[in-house]
Amino acid sequence: MNIPGALLISICLISFAPVKYVSGSYKTHPIHSNLKFEVSDLVNSTKLMVRGFIMLRRYFLGFLSGGVVMSAVKLNSLNELGEIFSKKKKNKTLPALFLGHGSPMNAIEDNRFTRSLNALGEAMARPEAILVISAHWMTEGTWITHMDRPKTIHDFHGFPQQLFDVQYPAPGRPDIAEAIQKDIVDPKIHLDHEAWGLDHGTWAVLRHMYPDANIPVMQLSIYMSQPPEYHLKLGQELAKLREKGILIVGSGNIVHNLRKIRWENNPTPYDWALEFDDWTKQKLLGRDFKALQNDFLKMEAGKLSVPSMDHYYPLLYVLGASNPKDELSFEYEEIQNASISMRSFSFGPV
Ligand code: ZN
Repeated sequence: MNIPGALLISICLISFAPVKYVSGSYKTHPIHSNLKFEVSDLVNSTKLMVRGFIMLRRYFLGFLSGGVVMSAVKLNSLNELGEIFSKKKKNKTLPALFLGHGSPMNAIEDNRFTRSLNALGEAMARPEAILVISAHWMTEGTWITHMDRPKTIHDFHGFPQQLFDVQYPAPGRPDIAEAIQKDIVDPKIHLDHEAWGLDHGTWAVLRHMYPDANIPVMQLSIYMSQPPEYHLKLGQELAKLREKGILIVGSGNIVHNLRKIRWENNPTPYDWALEFDDWTKQKLLGRDFKALQNDFLKMEAGKLSVPSMDHYYPLLYVLGASNPKDELSFEYEEIQNASISMRSFSFGPV
C-alpha cells in the first residue's frame, strides 16, 4: 500500500477512536506506527471504517431527530403524543419491562446479561421516550424528571474510575413529563427541574439497550413511605403511556441483599435467593399480583431477599402497567454475586 493511502486509513482510525470509546462495543484495533499494512489489516480497517461511519451516522441522525422533536413538539396532553406517534405509523404498543440491574459494573462489562439487554433493545419497536422507575431515586412524594438534558448521576462509591467516566447523554422530554403530570391527578406527581437526572439504575441498563443515547429518558421517583399498593396502583395509571410510544421500565432486583453479597467468580447462589426468585417467577406465571404485592415478606426467603423495599418496588409498577392480554416473557434469569437476582421480564410485545 502506498503511504498516502495508509496515512488516510490511520487518520480515519484515529478519528473513529472516540466513537469506539463511547459505544463500548468495538474491540480495540492496533494502529500501526510504521505505516505498513497487511491485507488483513486493510480488511479489518475497512470494516472498522464502515462500522465507524454507521455509528457516526446514527449519532448524527439521532441528534438531529432528538433536536427536531424537542423543538417542534409542544404537548398539551398525552393524547396529542399518541396522535403524533400514530402519524409516524409506528403505533405499536410498547412493553412494560422489569430489568434487574445488579452491580454498577454491569454498565461497563460485556457479559451474558448485558448482551441480553443489547438484543432486547434491537428487538423492540423504537420508543418515542422511556420512563424509568429506578430503585435508586427514593423520595418523599412522587416526582418526575423535567429537564431538557438530565445529568448522568454516579450514585455509588468504591468502583473503578472507568465507571465514573461513563456519561449517558440522553435528552429528556419535559413536555411529556408535564403531560403525564396533568394526566395523572391521583397521586399528584411533582416536576423535578434539577435535583435528579439519570442514576445508574437507569443508565447502566439503557447504555446496553440504546448505546446511542438518543431516545429521550425520564425518571419517576419512588415515594418510599407509601405501601406496596400505592406503587402498583400508580403503575396502573402509567399503563396508558405504553400505547403512546413510551417504554416503561422498572429497574431494580427481585433478590437484592448487599450484606450477603459475594465477589468471587461465579459463587453458588444462596438457597433462599433461588427459592424467592422462583417463588416470584411462579407468581408472575400465575398472574398472582396480589401475592407479589402483599405476601413477599411472609416467608423467610422473602425477608432475606427483600431486606429493603427500594429494589423490589419497581416490580410493582411493571405489574400495574401490564394488562391481562400481555404475553409474559422472561428475558433473562441469573443470580449474580450469590444474592442478586438478575431476573428480567416483559409484559407485551417484544
Ligand atoms: Zn441498584
